Amino acid sequence: MEREILYRTLKRYFGFSAFLPHQEDIIAGLCSGRDVLAIIATGGGKSLCYQLPALLLPGVALVISPLIALMKDQVDGLVENGVPAAVLNSTLDYAGRKRIEDRLLSGAVKILYVSPERIAQPGFLSFCKRLSISLIAVDEAHCISQWGHEFRPEYRQLNRLRRAIGRVPVIALTATATPAVRQDIIDQLSLNDPLVSIGSFYRHNLSYEVREKKNAYEQIVRHISRHRQDAGIIYCTSKKSVEELARRLQRDGYRALPYHAGLPKNLRAETQDRFIRDDIAIIVATVAFGMGIDKPDVRFVIHADLPRDLEHYYQETGRAGRDGEPAACLLLYSPGDRAKVTYFIDRMESDVEKKAAYRRLNALLAWCGGTGCRAASLLAYFGESFAPGRCGRCDACKNPRSFVDGTALARLIIGCIGELPAAYGAGYIADVLRGSRSGRIRERGDHSRGHFGAGKAYGREECIGAIRELVRQGYLAQDAIRSSFSPPTAAGLHRERRRCSCRRPAPLLAGRPRTNRAMPSSAACGS
Ligand code: ADP
Ligand code: ZN
Repeated sequence: MEREILYRTLKRYFGFSAFLPHQEDIIAGLCSGRDVLAIIATGGGKSLCYQLPALLLPGVALVISPLIALMKDQVDGLVENGVPAAVLNSTLDYAGRKRIEDRLLSGAVKILYVSPERIAQPGFLSFCKRLSISLIAVDEAHCISQWGHEFRPEYRQLNRLRRAIGRVPVIALTATATPAVRQDIIDQLSLNDPLVSIGSFYRHNLSYEVREKKNAYEQIVRHISRHRQDAGIIYCTSKKSVEELARRLQRDGYRALPYHAGLPKNLRAETQDRFIRDDIAIIVATVAFGMGIDKPDVRFVIHADLPRDLEHYYQETGRAGRDGEPAACLLLYSPGDRAKVTYFIDRMESDVEKKAAYRRLNALLAWCGGTGCRAASLLAYFGESFAPGRCGRCDACKNPRSFVDGTALARLIIGCIGELPAAYGAGYIADVLRGSRSGRIRERGDHSRGHFGAGKAYGREECIGAIRELVRQGYLAQDAIRSSFSPPTAAGLHRERRRCSCRRPAPLLAGRPRTNRAMPSSAACGS
C-alpha cells in the first residue's frame, strides 16, 4: 500500500498531518498483512495503529479491549469522526445486540470493539465466521500472560478466535511488558514472524524519588507544599487509608478528595470530573483511580504505600506530566510494606501466578533499595537500555549514596540472631545487641546471651537499618508475615569471610568517621 494514502486517511479521519513515532511502520506492516507486537507507552497513540488500517482494509476489524468504559469512549469518538464503529459487550440488551449484529452482517461496520468475555461465549466464534474480518487488534495484550501483572484468563480464548477466523493479521498492543511477557504474548497468540515495535519507556520530564517511610503524613505534606497550586495524585493501598489521608489533608486546608471502589459510582465520576476541571487539586486514591483519565498537567504522583509491582508503578506514575512539563514521583517505602503485598500474593490460587507475583515484588523491592539511577533501572526492568546511563533528576542521581564498611556490625547482628532461639523483629534484635534493660529481654533470658550488649557502640536505628540492609542484600531472610528475621542465609557471611557494605544512613553515622568508599549497587557485597 502506498504511504501517501496512509497520510490522506490520517488527515481525513483523525485530523493529524504526521504520525507519532512507530505508528507509520506498524500501520504499513499491518496493511501488508503482517502480525505486529507494539509496545508503546501510554499516550503514545496506540489506538490509531489499528484504527487507521481498519479503515483501509476490506471487512471489519475486531478490537479486543478489557475496559468497557474506555471502549465506549473510543467508539463515540470514532463515530463522531465519521468512522462506522460499534461495541459488543455485556451492557447491551438483546435488542441492542441484535441491531449491531445486523449492521455487522450487512458490512456497515468497520471497527468492532468486543470484551474478552464475549469471545469466550460459544456463539461468538461462529458468528465471527460469518463476517469478513480485516484484522484482530488485542489491546492490553499483557493480560494474556500469566507472567504479567494483570492476567485475564478470558484472554486465553484469543488463540481459538484466531484459529477460527483464519489468516488475518493480528496486532497485539500494550504499554508495559517485560521481555518475558513479550515472548509470552507472541507464543500465546501464535504471532507469525511479527514486526516487533518497541517505543522507549523513558519519560524525560519525570523525576523519581524513593524515601524510607518515617512519618508518612509529614513527608507527604512536605512534598506537596512544594506544589501548592498543582494537581497531584496520592496512591494508598487500602480504602481506609485513602479516607484517612484525604480527611487529614482537608483538615489542613488542602483541596483533596478520596477515590476508591467502595464509593458510589456517581460520586467517583464527580470527583474525577472536579479533578480534571481543577476544582480540586489532589486525589487520594487506591489503584482504582486513573485508568483512562487524561489530565495533562498532573504535577506529582505520590505512593504512600508500596505499589504492587514496577508495571503498576510505571503506569501510575505515568499519569504525571503528560504535558511534557516537569513532574515529581515520590514513593514512600517501608520494609514492613512488603508483608502487605505478600499477604495478597500468598492468597493467589495458581502457583504460576504466585511465583510470578513474587518475582515482580522482589524486582520492585530491589528497585526501591537500589542505589543506581531510578530511571535507568526502571527502563532496564522493561528490557530497555538507557543510553545516557543516568537521568540526572532522580534521587539517586542527585544525591549519590556513600557507603560504609558495615561488616563488623553485620557479623554482630548475624551472630546475635544465631544465638536467639526464635525469630524476632529487628527492634528486639537491636535491643539485645545494645544491651537494653528491657523487661522482655530479661523475661526471655536473652540478657545472658553472648551477644548481649556486644553492639553497645552502635545506635538503635543504626542496628535496625543494618538488619534491613542485610535482608535487602540477601544475607538474612525475612519472615514476611511476622516481619521477623531468621538466619538461614547468614552462614555465608561467616564462612566466606565476605565483607559487607551498608548504605550510609547519613544523619545517624555523622560524627563517626569510618572507611567510606563508594560502591556500585551491584557490588554491594564482595569478598
Ligand atoms: P494510547 O492508547 O497509546 O495511550 P491513544 O491512542 O489514546 O494512546 O492516543 C493518545 C493521544 O495521542 C490521543 O489524544 C490521540 O488523539 C493522539 N494521537 C494519536 N496519533 C496521533 C498523531 N499521529 N498525531 C497527533 N496526535 C496523535
Ligand atoms: Zn537518575
